[in-house]
Amino acid sequence: MQGLVVARLRAPGRTFCTHEACTFATHDHTTTQSPDGEDLHTAAPMRCRHCGQPAHYDSRLDDYRHDDPAAPDCFLIHRDD
Ligand SMILES: [Zn+2]
Ligand SMILES: [Zn+2]
Repeated sequence: MQGLVVARLRAPGRTFCTHEACTFATHDHTTTQSPDGEDLHTAAPMRCRHCGQPAHYDSRLDDYRHDDPAAPDCFLIHRDD
């Protein structure tokens, strides 16, 4: 049992960036829209508007991505690999 937990915590393969620790210049991990569509006065960490996972906008891909590459696809965000 313990081995399974460790395997899940260890991120396989690609790096996993977050709002606090992002190393990609093309990512925008913030949003100025609240979940109910109101404009915010200050930028807040972005969350997927469908499933609530932390998310970001990648200007190189011109698309949104969940921060965790292992997060399952949802209605709004699909992995392409
Ligand atoms: Zn990032
Ligand atoms: Zn999502």
